[in-house]
Amino acid sequence: MNVCLSCGACCAAFRVTFDASELESEGGLVPDGVADRETSTLYRMRGTDYTRPRCVALVGEIGKAVHCGLYRERPNPCREFAPLAEVGQFSDGCNRARARHGLPPLDF
Ligand code: SF4
Ligand code: SF4
Repeated sequence: MNVCLSCGACCAAFRVTFDASELESEGGLVPDGVADRETSTLYRMRGTDYTRPRCVALVGEIGKAVHCGLYRERPNPCREFAPLAEVGQFSDGCNRARARHGLPPLDF
């Protein structure tokens, strides 16, 4: 089973910033309604810069059962972060995110 579906920590730990060209209104996939403007060229997933970060697109309970509600439309940083974890090759980033939620480290 994909460990990410029982984790989700990275979606509630790091700021997710992406290029404005990824917005739906700019011809990309990410719905404009879930993004906040950072600069003239950068946007971020709403919620990921909060004091207790959690992406608005994350569905479920971290560490139990989660999924990305915008999986097909998610921005590039999300596409780049998780694939290794999905095949069992975890990163330091995973374990840092998991630690923020009191979850044990994954084996490399
Ligand atoms: S990429 Fe890592 S931190 Fe994110 S959900 Fe998967 S295992 Fe958890
Ligand atoms: S868009 Fe999806 S994968 Fe990316 S941070 Fe939000 S919930 Fe996680």
